Formats: sequence, structure tokens, C-alpha cells
Amino acid sequence: MTRRDSVRLVAGSTLLAGCTIPHHAPTAAELSGAMPMIDAPIVLATWNHGKPATERALAELAAGHSALDAAERGVMVVESECPDRSVGLQGWPDRDGIVTLDAAIMDDTGRSGAVACVRGVAHPIALARRVMDRTPHALLVGPGAEAFARSEGLHTGARPLDPEQERAWREWLRERQYSPRANSENHDTIGMVVRDAKGRMAASCTTSGLAWKMHGRVGDSPLVGAGLYVDPKAGAAVCTGLGEVVMRKLTSCIAVERLRSGASPAEACRDALHRLVEAGPLAANVQVGLIVLAKDGTHAAGALQPGFTYALGTAAGVTLHEAPAVA
Ligand code: ASP
Repeated sequence: MTRRDSVRLVAGSTLLAGCTIPHHAPTAAELSGAMPMIDAPIVLATWNHGKPATERALAELAAGHSALDAAERGVMVVESECPDRSVGLQGWPDRDGIVTLDAAIMDDTGRSGAVACVRGVAHPIALARRVMDRTPHALLVGPGAEAFARSEGLHTGARPLDPEQERAWREWLRERQYSPRANSENHDTIGMVVRDAKGRMAASCTTSGLAWKMHGRVGDSPLVGAGLYVDPKAGAAVCTGLGEVVMRKLTSCIAVERLRSGASPAEACRDALHRLVEAGPLAANVQVGLIVLAKDGTHAAGALQPGFTYALGTAAGVTLHEAPAVA
């Protein structure tokens, strides 16, 4: 069954079990993304696995934690368990049979941290947060990032491929075909944008990147401006999809800059995706999904192709939606 087949779009909303979010239930107009949600927490996250991640992020906010904490801990849920094999150590390996992970986190004070091409780290988003909080740097890669993980107690050690990873990798080796397809199961970053009740914003991304990538390949997810971007004057955005397209066009940054110039989230989304369409063959037949959250709580999502799903979390609960396609 493909991800598209399995998506269940939830009409209406459900209360979030076990959590009390001390704000009014959003109106239909607020939930549509077009009306501001003043002083109410809001979380958006990519793909179907955005739902459990969003539930966790809302629980963190309900417990009084910041947008930044919620953005970190929300995506950790998918790092721990990802049936799509696109996030965390259970992700599909590269063509050498090695799982390498990328992650980044950013808040609205301009601080960010990221790691790329790391092995043996179960929670790369936590490592990215440590880069932000405890180093003078913005991005650590490969063995240097792993050494930092060891010093922070975040290195979980090399582990062999599990039987399913091993089987899929050996199957791939027979053909050695590399052609990422829109909405195929060989990529699906978890990306999240959060605004807490105090109006603070944060964004996070974590991924095993594209299955069967060359060893050493890094995608858009750990790159500020490409995979994620936050601007306190405007809002936040995250991307998922073919990183080689997003990192060449700085899609998240363009979306947030459009917000800053006065565009609505829907306009910002459409304009940033159109920049990809303008790129012609580079973006033909590939998927890029984009989530945009303005600082007033208005929000939108869009994608190059149909099939990009995202979770929306508010005081009313978490619902799954399919984003409109521009192509
Ligand atoms: N953007 C990720 C990458 O290129 C993959 C994804 O989001 O699906 O590594």
C-alpha cells in the first residue's frame, strides 16, 4: 500500500487525548488557515507521520514548554518510529548500505543548529539542538558531528542494517537504479513548524534523506533557508521532497520572505513553489511539499504534485490534510 492509499483525511477535529491546551477551540475560518489565531498554539508537520509528531508537540506546549522544545521533541517521535523508513536509524540506507541522517532546528531569535551525514545517532534533532545551544557553530557534519554526539552522550553507536533494510538494499543493488519519484516511499522528511501561546516560533527537520543516495550526499533538510526558515517578523516554513531542487532555490526562505513582504501564507506558498516550477526540468516530475506558518497563526501548505499530506494541530486536536498542488 502506498502512502497516498493509506492517507485518511480527517474531516472535522478530535480532542487531543490527555492534553489540556488552555485556549479556545479554533473556528472553522481559523482552521482553514486564512484567519489569524491570536495567542493560540499551533503546530503543522509534514506527511502522515506528522500526526503523532504534532500530538507530541502539542503535549509539550500544553505542559508549558516552548515552541523550540515542542519542535524538537515532536519530531523525535518519528525518529524513534517511522514505518515509511525515511527518518531515523530505521531509514533506508545509501547505496553503500550505510544509514546517514540530517537534521536542523531553528528558533525565532535567529539561532539555529544542524547536523548532516551523521551515523549512529538515534536522535539527530537533539544533536542539532546541542549544536545550537552548546557550540559556536551552525552545522556539524560526518565524523565531527559524531564525535560531538559522543561527547554529549547522544551517540547510540553503529548498528547493522535490520533485516528489512538489508533486504531492500540488496534488492536495490541488483538494478542500481536511482530515480527519485514524486510521492514514492524513498523520501519523507518529518518537518515541523510551531507557534506557542506566547507567539514564539520554531521549526525543525529530520531525515535519513533520499534512499540509495551516494554516500556523503546531504539534502536540504539541515540547510537553513532551504529545508527550514524562521523569521520573527514574518513566520516559519519547512520543506520536504527532493532536496536537490529545494537547496538550489531556497524554498523555505523565499516563502518566509514573501510573508515578510505582506503576502498571505497561501500566496507565499504558491510563489515559493512557482519558483521551483520556473526551474523547468530540475523540478519536473518530482515532489516538493511546503508548509508555511505566519506569526499571526494563519497558515497554508502546498506542493508541486498531488499527494503531499500534512498534520495541523490546534486546541481542537490534530487533523490530516492533503495540500493543494501547483503543478
Ligand atoms: N528533503 C529530503 C532530502 O532531500 C527528503 C524528503 O523530504 O523527503 O533529503
